[in-house]
Amino acid sequence: MTQRNSSEHLVVIGNGMAGCRAVEEILARDPARFRITIFGAEPRVNYNRIMLSPLLAGEKTFDDIVINDAAWYANNGVTLVAGDAVVAIDPATKMVTAASGVTVRYDKLLISTGSTPFIIPVPGADLPGVVTFRDMDDVDAMLKAAGKGGNAVVIGGGLLGLEAAHGLSLRGMKVTVIHLMPTLMERQLDETAGHLLKSALEARGQTIVTGADTAGILGDGKVEGVRLKDGREISASLVVMAVGIRPNTGLARAAGLSVGRGIHVNDHMVTSDPDILAVGECVEHDGQVYGLVAPLWEMCRALADGLTGAPGGGYHGSTMSTRLKVAGLDVFSAGDFSGNDGAEDIILRDEAGGVYKRVSVKDDRIVGAVLYGDTQDGGWYFDLLQKQQNISQIRDSLIFGNAFSADQPAPDAPARGRAEPDVNDAGRRPAARDAEPFTRAGLANVGPADARASAATRPAYA
Ligand SMILES: Cc1cc2nc3c(=O)[nH]c(=O)nc-3n(C[C@H](O)[C@H](O)[C@H](O)COP(=O)(O)OP(=O)(O)OC[C@H]3O[C@@H](n4cnc5c(N)ncnc54)[C@H](O)[C@@H]3O)c2cc1C
Repeated sequence: MTQRNSSEHLVVIGNGMAGCRAVEEILARDPARFRITIFGAEPRVNYNRIMLSPLLAGEKTFDDIVINDAAWYANNGVTLVAGDAVVAIDPATKMVTAASGVTVRYDKLLISTGSTPFIIPVPGADLPGVVTFRDMDDVDAMLKAAGKGGNAVVIGGGLLGLEAAHGLSLRGMKVTVIHLMPTLMERQLDETAGHLLKSALEARGQTIVTGADTAGILGDGKVEGVRLKDGREISASLVVMAVGIRPNTGLARAAGLSVGRGIHVNDHMVTSDPDILAVGECVEHDGQVYGLVAPLWEMCRALADGLTGAPGGGYHGSTMSTRLKVAGLDVFSAGDFSGNDGAEDIILRDEAGGVYKRVSVKDDRIVGAVLYGDTQDGGWYFDLLQKQQNISQIRDSLIFGNAFSADQPAPDAPARGRAEPDVNDAGRRPAARDAEPFTRAGLANVGPADARASAATRPAYA
């Protein structure tokens, strides 16, 4: 076990993904710097929240998804106060108070309280049998309901809702997904990809109702169904609300910190109080709030650099990519494909093969990508996007992916003239897929698109 003589006490509120990662980053830089206490509202050690979806689907157990077990806390000299939510912060005396009445003094405080699922304020929303999908307790509630079989309604056809629906289907429930917008996952997918996804889910036995507005939850003492505003009623013994998340800022606001949509932080995650830091989904950095883990990891590195005095340029925002975690359905989305600012689309569509790819390009740089059915090049497109590589010399082959474009000049290499894709090379080009519409180079360069959802503008796993 790490012995610390440090008198500096770091108190962390939130034993979730960002809070614990921040502690790991601090320990990696300067293990003796702080005496560390973590308060967690959940009565358990730190686990991988992302993996709640495979856990619900029966593909993982809780033990599989634990990130830091009890030994990690002990070995690193970190005191975990689990199952005891902090209820107040007093910046004047530097004290936090927990629900149990315990009070602790801090030298530095880290708020990492994550997000709160949004509950649609409709009649019946508080009935037993209405759950959210955020933590292990929610999964336990869903598994208990699924054990009795019957019908489930998932409100929300975003990433989270579709993963809940998938898990409940595998657990034997008959699932209906109701989604307000006409397109599933409209934040990540365009209309075509959303349509393909809907068809695939329906083929698996789910009922998908798009353009559906919830009027109320039905039931007398417990959930019995959902009524839509158009009068339709869908019976259900379980309703999962997966309609969005909100940064959990209540404590910070009550403590007088500067809060907008999230807790305001600078590039090293310091709030308006120099001794209070914040990280994760609860923060707002440069006008953005985030709901995916990749940016949180970057924030945690910047936080630890700043707190320990390690070199590092701070956090400057993130570009996002997402994948749907539903076995057998490959969906990838990154960046901005809204068509704003004159971006052009390069599209490959193979309906028979169930493949659709769309890469949005502006000024010879990738600004967004949507892949359905074949997502193996998702990482490559995302890399090109993040690095803002000039793709002018591989533009003709870009949509066919990395393997095909590998034969083309390196993106930043001097121009050698445009190469024609080798249409006979079935091994490298996905020749079985007819790119449509098929132009000189097998590509469709489509002009600025209509207003579509942008993964970049609303980056959240919800
Ligand atoms: C089912 C599911 C699947 C997901 N899949 C993906 C994915 O595939 N890819 C991806 O990038 N992201 C995914 N996400 C999102 C990802 O999990 C979050 O971005 C990440 O967990 C946010 O980390 P955080 O630490 O900010 O919040 P959290 O992990 O939620 O941690 C916050 C913790 O703070 C605790 N807390 C709150 N208030 C208090 C208090 N007052 N006192 C003490 N403790 C408190 C909470 O109980 C919680 O344990 C998924 C989320 C869910 C729910």
